[in-house]
Amino acid sequence: MSASLRLPARSRARALEGHPWVFANELREPPPAALDGEGVALRDARGYWLGMGIASSRSAIAWRRYSRTPRAFDAAFLREALAASIARRAPGPVRRLVWSDSDDLPGLVVDQYEDLLVAQLATHAMDRRAALVSDLLQELLAPQEILYRNDAPARRREGLELSVSTRSGKPAPARWVQVGEILLWLDPMAGQKTGLYLDQRLAYARVAAHAAGRRVLDAFCYGGGFALHCARAGAASVLGLDASAEAIASATRAAERNGLAAARFEAANVFDWFTAERDASFDLVVLDPPPFARSQRSLEGALRGYKEIHLRALQRLTPGGVLATYACSHPVSHDALLAVIGAAAHDAHRCVRVLEHCHQPPDHPILPGMPESEYLRGFILGVD
Ligand code: SAH
Repeated sequence: MSASLRLPARSRARALEGHPWVFANELREPPPAALDGEGVALRDARGYWLGMGIASSRSAIAWRRYSRTPRAFDAAFLREALAASIARRAPGPVRRLVWSDSDDLPGLVVDQYEDLLVAQLATHAMDRRAALVSDLLQELLAPQEILYRNDAPARRREGLELSVSTRSGKPAPARWVQVGEILLWLDPMAGQKTGLYLDQRLAYARVAAHAAGRRVLDAFCYGGGFALHCARAGAASVLGLDASAEAIASATRAAERNGLAAARFEAANVFDWFTAERDASFDLVVLDPPPFARSQRSLEGALRGYKEIHLRALQRLTPGGVLATYACSHPVSHDALLAVIGAAAHDAHRCVRVLEHCHQPPDHPILPGMPESEYLRGFILGVD
């Protein structure tokens, strides 16, 4: 535990205020390559202790904290941090068990789909310990299978190869999983993220509470989580739209499996669809688009996109209707999203009232010292 990094004098690094990352440009020079993936202490210019983190000479994030006390990044630490992360979660067969920096396990995500775990390793430090992580997950949770979705392009920024593999070496077959009131079709090897958008699963029931008797549009529906919960709750009709043909095939299959004939799904670009279908009207619209902004730099363009999509949705909503809208992008703050909705409502000559605030679920914990950990917000709005 001898290796240590120091922040330069007069540094304004966010780590001084509790942020778990040090960016390469906040150091005088990047950490030596010999320390890649190792646990390294961080101190400020005066030698004041800031914590232990994994070092990377290749990433824009040169140091990521895993502990505030002196500890090696070894099997004992990983076992303890994994057990603590699991113990923080509410019980349940489908949930996120580990969420990277928020759980002191930088670069590791683990989702549970009943007896299947799906893991993503996104840092050099985790990737090097993949076999150890695999053994520890097996020891702690005894899953039937562990699937490694190491195909996120972010891995390239750490100099890591992309791959999809399983602990057993056999492919992980697609299957049904119960999410809330519905069976959804999970294709863990090829689906987006780890297969499903687990961060929205608690939102389905909140929206479905408004669905009875209503004509529903679920724009950006993926596997149909919102749409099918609305159909289950007695919606008069449900249309789900998504650009991905695979997502639409899964959602259609799930409508059949759940016996929800009111729901149908169509592969479409939502922006084009709104332009083509000028006369369509709905009583409940769900907007859950992909992140239009991944960084502060792309924020302005993203806000234009959000405004456009809200304007289109508001124009299609009948008076007394409901709009459920989400932004899953850290730079799009609560206030920015609300301002966009206000501006779109003004342009559409509609009165809009916030009925409910929406947020990422507690198994995607927010660190107050790390603004990036808060990335999903939304509103359920009444529209007159
Ligand atoms: N509501 C979904 C998650 C949506 S994620 C759920 O709860 O599971 C965003 C979705 O938008 C993805 O499925 C992606 O395929 C889709 N998408 C991205 N751009 C699109 C576009 N322009 N038109 C339609 N769908 C789009």
